Parts: sequence; structure tokens; C-alpha cells
Amino acid sequence: MHGLNLCREPLMQQRIVHALALIALTTIGSSSAWAQAAPAGAVEPTDPKATEQWAPVPAIVTPGKQDLQPPSDAVVLFDGRSLDQWESSKDHSPARWKLHDGVVTVNKAAGNIQTRQRFKNYQLHLEWQVPKGITGEGQARGNSGLFLASTGPGDEGYEIQILDSWQNPTYVNGQAASVYKQTAPLVNAMRPPGEWQTYDAIWTAPVFATDGTLKSPAYVTLFHNGVLVQNHTQLSGETFYIGKPKYKPHTEAAIKLQAHGDPSQPISFRNIWVRPLD
Ligand code: MG
Repeated sequence: MHGLNLCREPLMQQRIVHALALIALTTIGSSSAWAQAAPAGAVEPTDPKATEQWAPVPAIVTPGKQDLQPPSDAVVLFDGRSLDQWESSKDHSPARWKLHDGVVTVNKAAGNIQTRQRFKNYQLHLEWQVPKGITGEGQARGNSGLFLASTGPGDEGYEIQILDSWQNPTYVNGQAASVYKQTAPLVNAMRPPGEWQTYDAIWTAPVFATDGTLKSPAYVTLFHNGVLVQNHTQLSGETFYIGKPKYKPHTEAAIKLQAHGDPSQPISFRNIWVRPLD
């Protein structure tokens, strides 16, 4: 069955590519715009092999059976069985959030937790759930956060907001999927409380020169429940509750989850994995 599909699909793709190439050649050949665009004296390659690239060959990665499951090269940060990959942000002791039923629930009294491993650039998958029947409003309803790089034991770093933004107005650069106090999400893709939400993030860490000045800023692309909400968003610095964003130099950093002090019922997480990109 698989063999049949493998044979058929490339053949079909090949035919489509050939058909498109023919159309493109016909169009280009008859276009005076093309003739004008080509620099005088430039020799266009006639051998199709001249533009083929054969190395480096992309590594083979086996995807999970469903897109939500970690592919073969992912670092699994939480699979529902242990918090071994996590530590308390304030003193690096074992994480003391509540592990139960294959999920981990925030322990607000225990403070933020973060990965033991440090990362630079990566792709991250994370799932979170606001409990059904949650109370409170605005920032005081299901507040937590995903810090893409932690730069201190408290809320230092770069926070993607986690909040119950289902029928819960607040400042837009503080709703779920915002780069906190910097960039609102493109849309509100929130599911109601009681349902699982997914975040898929691509994080490009900032780069600092040896003298500590910023060489290149951080960027984040984020999908919330499969919907694009941050499209290669440039960060102006770390995210702050009070004051303007600013950078401070750092190297590899932990990924941190926020134990926010709002009085609403705590949220839960499951299925967290990361693919380092460097
Ligand atoms: Mg937060």
C-alpha cells in the first residue's frame, strides 16, 4: 500500500512539474519584459543541472503519527509522566507543579518552572488548557505565560502570553498569543475553557556582540490552534509588565512557564517538545 503511494506520487509530481516548466518556458520566451530584465551580455544557463543542488542532504526525520506528536529529532520536555526535564526557576530545585492524569497543573505557590536544558533557536510545541468554569476577568483569568527564553528567575525574558481570551476582553497586546506588551496576535484563535489549546512556535534568538550590543533582534512565528498569530514578529526586547521593552545580552536560555499570581483556577499543560535548530 505504502509502496504504491510512494511510486505514484512522485510520478504525478514529476508530470505536474514538467507541465509547469513548459508553461513557464513558453511565457518567458514570449515576454519582452524578460529580455529587458536580463543584464546585457549575461549568458543564461542552458543546462538544467546547472541549478541543481545536491548537498547538504536534509536529515531524515520521522514525523509523529499525528502532527501533535514529537518527531524523531525532538527533545521531549513533557510527555505526561514526569517533570524531570523541569526545575524551579528561582533555585533550580525539582519543579513542584502538580503532575496528575498525564498533565501538569500550575502550582502558583511554587513559582515559575523552566527547562533544565538551555536552548538558542528552536521549534516548540506546547498544549495548555484553561479549566472549565474558570472565573475572573481580564488579566486575572487563566494567566500564565510561555517565556521563549528566560533571562532571570522571575518574569524576565520574552513572554508569549497565556490567558483565557475566550470572551474575555483585555488590552490586545496582553491577550493570549500576544508578545506580551509588544505585539497583539493577528487573530484571536482561542478555544473555550475546558478544551486544549496548542502553541507551535519558531523562535529565533537575539544575537549579541562580545561587547553586549545587539547584533540581531529576536523573532517569533507562532501558530495558536494551527492558526498563524505571529508572523516572523520582531521583538523590541524583553517583555515587561511596566516600562518599554529592552534587550540585555544573554546566551542560551531555558524555556520557562509562568506561575502567575492571579486568583483564578490554575491552568494545565501537556505534550511539550522542542526541536533545536542550531
Ligand atoms: Mg502571563
